[in-house]
Amino acid sequence: MKDKTDCIIIGGGIGGLFSGAFLARNGKKVTVLEKNAIIGGGLQCFHRKGKIFETGMHVMGGFGENGNLHKICRYLGIYDSLDLQHIDSDCIDEIHYKKTGDVYRIASGKENFIKCMSEYFPEETGGIRAYVEDIYELTEEIPLFYLKEDNGDVRIHSEKFTWSADSLINSHVSDPRLRELLAYLNPLYGGVEGHTPAYVHALIHVLYINGATRFKGGSQQLADALKRVIENAGGNVLSNRNVTRIDVSDKMITAVHTSDGGIYKAVNYISAIHPVALLRLLPEGAFQRVFARRLNEIPDSYSAFSIYIDLKPDRFPYIDHTCYYMEDYGNMWNQDNFDPCDWPKCFMYMTPPDPGQGKFANRLLVHCIMSYELVRKWENTTVGHRGEDYENWKNENVRKILDKLQTIFPDIYDSIACIYSASPLTIRDYYNTRDGAIFGYRKDCRNLIFSQLPIHSKVRNLFLTGQNINLHGMCGVPLTAIYTAEAILGKNTIVKGINDACKDI
Ligand SMILES: Cc1cc2nc3c(=O)[nH]c(=O)nc-3n(C[C@H](O)[C@H](O)[C@H](O)COP(=O)(O)OP(=O)(O)OC[C@H]3O[C@@H](n4cnc5c(N)ncnc54)[C@H](O)[C@@H]3O)c2cc1C
Repeated sequence: MKDKTDCIIIGGGIGGLFSGAFLARNGKKVTVLEKNAIIGGGLQCFHRKGKIFETGMHVMGGFGENGNLHKICRYLGIYDSLDLQHIDSDCIDEIHYKKTGDVYRIASGKENFIKCMSEYFPEETGGIRAYVEDIYELTEEIPLFYLKEDNGDVRIHSEKFTWSADSLINSHVSDPRLRELLAYLNPLYGGVEGHTPAYVHALIHVLYINGATRFKGGSQQLADALKRVIENAGGNVLSNRNVTRIDVSDKMITAVHTSDGGIYKAVNYISAIHPVALLRLLPEGAFQRVFARRLNEIPDSYSAFSIYIDLKPDRFPYIDHTCYYMEDYGNMWNQDNFDPCDWPKCFMYMTPPDPGQGKFANRLLVHCIMSYELVRKWENTTVGHRGEDYENWKNENVRKILDKLQTIFPDIYDSIACIYSASPLTIRDYYNTRDGAIFGYRKDCRNLIFSQLPIHSKVRNLFLTGQNINLHGMCGVPLTAIYTAEAILGKNTIVKGINDACKDI
């Protein structure tokens, strides 16, 4: 039995660590319980043969001078400890269309972006500007995106807020190539035609138009910095603590059990894991049956197949931005919907920077959207014991990806020292997320309320956080963590604190 702390957080990923750091910054003693050997969730990196590989955080918005993440990290006192590379505004992303040979280099900065897109599509200049103005306006409907205090007003959203992302784009521009290009960040939010809400698309697109940033030397540094904030306030961040059971009595959590026999007690509890995983830990009836059914029924976003390439020295060029490979036009909105025979039709690849980065890259990462259906036949297997046919299937996927990359980098095969790969099953088992969903629950404009979950629960001292509650990713998850921590500390406590701490920026 461990000492009672102010708050126990289940899950030491981005949501758990940010919630814990916000509470710690406000004097609370927090214990974070993480099932994996290394903390961080999406921030976690793995090491092989002296190289570091990021698992779930490669490019981020919000770290620019006036960005929300920049301010949040300043408030937590960790910004100066982060080794960040702000991507050159002339080109934050590069999109290659193999069939036509078209290459688009995307600039950041609102006016720069409009100018750059208008140069590719001069006849659509008016529509491009109107589209950009529209997505910026949509982000204004979410005050927290700009770290504005919640004034308690009932929010009435514009009609466009609830449109689908593709309808919003199509309402402004007519060239099918441009329509698809404006959605090129689709793999960063799991976009599905007719379903992904315009506001989700707008938040992510505006975030990146405002500037993109990467970690030099891996994203683990942010997880470690958040851990220090929690520990400096007297809290703990414990790895290898798999939460296996939660006791509830009279609508209050009384204890949390871990697989190593630990029992943890606190005044408040935060769940920073997938709600379906949380349900499995709670006793039957802890949540109302309708709510539990809803948690099980909300569809998930799609999954991915990733390869991590250890490059030979001085062979492969370092590329200072993210690149997107597209087989042809027409595939943007159905990225998880391909016949396995012609997979992959699209993927993103990048060479993450290291401290003192030179002109050659040390590693190359490739992420391809993949449906969980392609691995379902191995779903009852565990890591390292999935069988030879699974390993052969993975190797075949790696070859398919490399063959396509070879059309852009003819020497790719000769540049490789070693390759590691991860499938939707790896993602499922590592993050404990249903069907390996990379962004958690899928947001759907046809039923916005269904996939939006409250921070409070019927279990009175249990609060929810993480990508499934609101938006995913390096912006969405920390912003939700603000709301979760404020549910314990008091409304606007953290937002006020951030704005006070960043008055001079
Ligand atoms: C391949 C990939 C690439 C991505 N790239 C980007 C990117 O470039 N930019 C971006 O902004 N976002 C990216 N994302 C999304 C981002 O990683 C997620 O949105 C984010 O990690 C979600 O945060 P979270 O706190 O909700 O979950 P996580 O960060 O997954 O944290 C959940 C944590 O809970 C732990 N846990 C689960 N069950 C238990 C249990 N029973 N007991 C204890 N601990 C438990 C897990 O081990 C995990 O550490 C990517 C995701 C993936 C998969």
